[in-house]
This record gives sequence, C-alpha cells and structure tokens, in this order.
Amino acid sequence: MSNPFSEFQQQVEAIKNRHRQGEIDQSERDALLRSMQLKDKKWGDLWMLSPKNEWFRKAAGSKSWLRDYPIELIDPADLPAISDMSMPQIARAGHDCTRCKLHQGRNRAVPGEGPVPAEIMLIGEGPGFNEDKQARPFVGNAGQFLEELLGNSGTKRSEVFITNVVKCRPPGNRDPEAEELAACSDYLDRQIELVDPKVIVTLGRYSMNRYFPGASISKIHGQPQRFGRRLVVPMFHPAAALHQPRWRPLIAEDFQKLPQFIAEAASFAEVSDDEADAEQLSLF
Ligand code: URA
Repeated sequence: MSNPFSEFQQQVEAIKNRHRQGEIDQSERDALLRSMQLKDKKWGDLWMLSPKNEWFRKAAGSKSWLRDYPIELIDPADLPAISDMSMPQIARAGHDCTRCKLHQGRNRAVPGEGPVPAEIMLIGEGPGFNEDKQARPFVGNAGQFLEELLGNSGTKRSEVFITNVVKCRPPGNRDPEAEELAACSDYLDRQIELVDPKVIVTLGRYSMNRYFPGASISKIHGQPQRFGRRLVVPMFHPAAALHQPRWRPLIAEDFQKLPQFIAEAASFAEVSDDEADAEQLSLF
C-alpha cells in the first residue's frame, strides 16, 4: 500500500537503519525523527512518528500533539465486526460510516481520544463546529471549560478518554435523534470495552440516558451508581453549565470528587465478570 503515510513511515525507517548501522548516534536519530513532520493536504493536520514508533497528530487549529493513528494506514476491506475493532479501526470505520443521516453533513467523524485503557472515560453528546473540523472531541469553549474542571480535580485531559454518544456533528448542533444514537451505540459499546474505565462520567442528557433513562440531571448529578465493575457518574454538560450560571458551582463540585469516585471504583474493579454481572442484576 503506497500513500503519504506509508512513505513517511519508510523515511523514518531509513533513519532508524542509519542508527542501527552506526552512522548516527541515538540523539541524532531522535532529533531527526522529531524534526520530520507530514502535512495532511486535505485537512492541514500535522503528523509525526515518535522514536518509539507511535503516531502523533496536531490538528489544524489545535496547539497540542495527540497520540492518534492515521486511518489511511488501515485498509477498510480489513475491518472486522465493530465488536472486534481496535480503537484505530473504529476511527477508520467512522470516517466512512453511513449508518445514519449525520454522515451527510459531517466534515470529519470524531471518534474520541485519550489513553486506552484509562481510569476515567467522559461521554459527551456530539461534535460541534470546531470538533467537526479537527476530528477531536471537546475543543471549543465547552472543551476549554472541561479542561479547567478536570484540572481543578487534579486530572489532566491527556489522562482521560473522551468521546461522545454520536461521532458526527448534528447539523446546527441540534440534539441527536433516537435513530442516530442507536446507529452509533455499537461504536461506543466497543470503546467502553477497550478503554475499560473504572469511572464513566456522562456529560449531559443523552449520555446520561444510556444508564439512567428518564432521570432528571438536576436531581441525580454527581451521584455515582455502580454498573458491574464500573461506577457511572452523571454530570451536567459543560456547555450547559457555561450558559446556566447556577449550574457552574454544581458541575465544579461534582468534578472535584473524581479522585474519590476512582478510589471507590477501585475497590470493586477487580471482581470477575461473572460476579459483576450478578452485582448488576441485583441493582434492578
Ligand atoms: N459538546 C459535546 O458534547 N461534545 C463535544 O465533543 C463538543 C461539545
């Protein structure tokens, strides 16, 4: 397969070979690798391959490099069923996904980002204007506020996995519809399996509904509930809290309890899946 990404990979390999053959030392090799960047012509993103062979992407309009994998290196013909996909394969599938009508208006699908596995997984609603351009979740005002909230709890954005219930932008930022939520749900189920978080934080109504159907966020926000091996904590959506001054202190307070939630979840994260299923059944 020849494409700009595989050619870039070959150039990186050539530098590594020069090091293996003793032509350059390790620090020269690393400096050369770090200076090499590939610009994606279509989106304007920058890509690099670290000395450890991990891909990083800096989206056009963004300041940070993030671990990502170029979907161009995955042949769509090789994709398994969603329930068996890896995280990069989910991104590849989302890129071409036509399971619901949101694909008609998207620029880029936004699969989510963060470490896999991760102790905390945040699930928002859906990409907005900026997210749809950068293929990254929570990069607009709500994202800035989210980073502030995480920071106040002693958590870095880079430590948590962030995604949404729908991966493509609803036109004009309207609410996602039931069939769109259903169409995207298999991707989210698989992501939860891969990330295997101790704590899931639902941000806003639509992700809350996955776990607490029909509940009222103003009544249950910040109150964790155990689902098998995980703790699920419903929280206000940061964008809603930005617009409703009376919710701001409430969301801030809920986020500050994150370390407490992780400690609580750690005590039952080790139970076997059978025990967890039994536990979950006893909840209802
Ligand atoms: N709001 C969301 O719910 N998700 C995003 O990614 C951005 C804004």
